[in-house]
Amino acid sequence: MTSFWRPAYVAIGSNLNHPQARVHEAFERLAALPATRSVLRSRLYNTRPMGPQDQPYFVNAAAGLLTQLTARELLEVLLGIETAMGRNRKERWGPRVIDLDLVWMPGETIDEPGLTVPHPGVSTRNFVLYPLADIAPTLAIPGHGNVLELLHRAGDDGISVLEQHKSF
Ligand code: ATP
Ligand code: CA
Ligand code: CA
Ligand code: CA
Repeated sequence: MTSFWRPAYVAIGSNLNHPQARVHEAFERLAALPATRSVLRSRLYNTRPMGPQDQPYFVNAAAGLLTQLTARELLEVLLGIETAMGRNRKERWGPRVIDLDLVWMPGETIDEPGLTVPHPGVSTRNFVLYPLADIAPTLAIPGHGNVLELLHRAGDDGISVLEQHKSF
């Protein structure tokens, strides 16, 4: 834990057990994390699955946090939320009740077994970039680019808005 507060961007995805409700549950659980405030919530999107196509469409969103946790500590609590919500890891990119990825946290460029920040998928996945653009369109992600530029490059294939902002 640090004494100062930094932004952190978390990608949220679900395609099992009422995905829309699970994404809202994840927003609430993120807001309740220790030493962490939830500041921004993106719209919710319906997205075509990546990888195996024999699974339901996903609901994706993104959260903007302010936190005193380090990236490693944040990853730990994100995996804890996944476990608490009943995630069990089977096939790669298979169906899941919740997936929480730490997309980027300024000052926390990390590449080690078990934690890569920025998340390597960010520059090509429109289901990460569209939600992220709702809350941080001008954000620069080191080694990748600006969120809006990446989004335009990734395109809008397989993605549609499910739920507009209600409130922040
Ligand atoms: P992908 O990472 O390609 O989106 P996935 O989300 O399905 O795939 P998981 O099974 O959820 O992959 O996670 C596998 C491991 O990835 C986690 O146990 C975690 O240690 C590691 N990992 C590395 N970097 C990150 C990150 N930035 N955010 C979340 N997990 C990460
Ligand atoms: Ca399958
Ligand atoms: Ca993921
Ligand atoms: Ca993950």
